[in-house]
Amino acid sequence: MNAADGSRADLSVEMYDTTLRDGSQQVGLDLTVEDKLRVAAALDALGVDVVEGGWPGSNPKDKEFFARAGELPWRNAQLAAFGATRRPNRSADGDPDLETLLVANTPIVTLVGKAWTLHVDEALRTTREENLAMIADSARFFVRAGRRLVFDAEHFFDGYAADRGYALACLSAAAEGGADTLALCDTNGGTLPEEIVTVVRDVLGRFPGLRVGVHCHNDSACAVANSLVAVGEGATHVQGAANGYGERCGNADLFAVIAGLELKRNHELLPPGRLGALAATAREIAELANLPFDAKQPYVGSSAFATKAGLHASAIARRPDAYSHVNPERVGNRAHVLVSELAGRSNVLVKAAEMGLDLSSDPALATAVLEEIKAAEHRGYAFEAADASFELLVRRVIGGRPGSEAERMPGREAGIPEWFELEGYRVVIEKSAGADRSEAIVRLLLGEQRVVAVGEGVGPVHALDQALRKALSELYPELANIHLVDYKVRILDGRAATSAVTRVMLTSADHQGEWTTVGVSDDIVTASWEALADGISYGLLRAGAEALVPA
Ligand SMILES: [Zn+2]
Repeated sequence: MNAADGSRADLSVEMYDTTLRDGSQQVGLDLTVEDKLRVAAALDALGVDVVEGGWPGSNPKDKEFFARAGELPWRNAQLAAFGATRRPNRSADGDPDLETLLVANTPIVTLVGKAWTLHVDEALRTTREENLAMIADSARFFVRAGRRLVFDAEHFFDGYAADRGYALACLSAAAEGGADTLALCDTNGGTLPEEIVTVVRDVLGRFPGLRVGVHCHNDSACAVANSLVAVGEGATHVQGAANGYGERCGNADLFAVIAGLELKRNHELLPPGRLGALAATAREIAELANLPFDAKQPYVGSSAFATKAGLHASAIARRPDAYSHVNPERVGNRAHVLVSELAGRSNVLVKAAEMGLDLSSDPALATAVLEEIKAAEHRGYAFEAADASFELLVRRVIGGRPGSEAERMPGREAGIPEWFELEGYRVVIEKSAGADRSEAIVRLLLGEQRVVAVGEGVGPVHALDQALRKALSELYPELANIHLVDYKVRILDGRAATSAVTRVMLTSADHQGEWTTVGVSDDIVTASWEALADGISYGLLRAGAEALVPA
């Protein structure tokens, strides 16, 4: 094989993300369509090659995702839709599930098929010949429609152990049907690295013209290792999920695979410079998934490079490379224990610069902002996925310092007016046999003016939102275009305080886009109010609404 014949030798290793399909099988992971779009955007921005969006035939949510996926500014990744082979003893033409997959209109279709005789006999309950025909026909159906076809050979390693000839025949059927990629799936996750090496080597030798890859599960704690040894053998396609999400023990953590191959095997997988976004992307997706981020997660966890100094403190300071396996900055992480990802001075400056705020020329101001962020993070705030709250915080610090950098900054008003002040609110929660109902009274001050409004809702937060809108809608007509799209609650264990703390993440949207705000309190209503009030303030800031509260 050489580069000229277009065969495998000139293929770079393809990073195929299945967070939105296989990863979302994880217990406790429930993504809305909005969440899925944001996760897809984050993965695309990181620079993976393929984002598998879901199984459009399995649920309406995935169907809607594919209908809206075109809204995203795809820069790096191609979208894949996932589905199974046609039904037994029927034609591929007119198969409703295959049609649904076609309608998802993705450049790549990933077709899963049986490769283990046990599953053909017991789960599919059809003949082994029919299963081969199902694979070939279904692949052909999509290839004829102009799609690139990835064949996911389910339970391939168990199938290979049980009946090697048949498992390989399943791959041949897919190849006959026009598949260009054969993904060998360790669906039960029980395979160890040596077995992966043997099987991948055998398959690579038999299908020289095709891309061969693996899809590994972590039931033996080998998913990442298995993916790495497969690439070592010549596999050029690796499937995995963000942060190793997935059912049971999870899928291969795609981020660890990427870091391992880029830093230790000299593969170029992501666009130049994007490896440095790995840690931030991992965190952002954890926030979107509303799952706690594992401090011990290799490469990207907050403790991944945190050494408990003790006796070694001076040695660590002298030679940090002696105590870590790679330079943490390469993956956007850092060497020592920090309050959080954001609390570093340079990160804050970079983030502020993204908003058009140059803090670097005013060291005192930068310090004030940093202190404020550190204090907030200590109380439980998380800004990684709440850019709007971060921007409001920075602008409030700037605004509170008259004569500071604020006045010299170009572009948007750097500081921030307040659009309303809270005098107080009261919420009544009514629980009855018929339906739950809450009522909120909100009292606001807008300069000289005092506004009182009552709102009703299905819960206290909904009632507060209604009351706040009612109080402000006449004064700020811009509010009509601002609406709530998502609301998430997380109970944090008492890291600073003695009691548990509630963190609320709230996403709002207008016609141009959406933004997320965060509220923290030991009381859920207070935390929600904070996120709600900031969500509306930020919406008014975006809309350029003129503030009625005198500065
Ligand atoms: Zn899987």
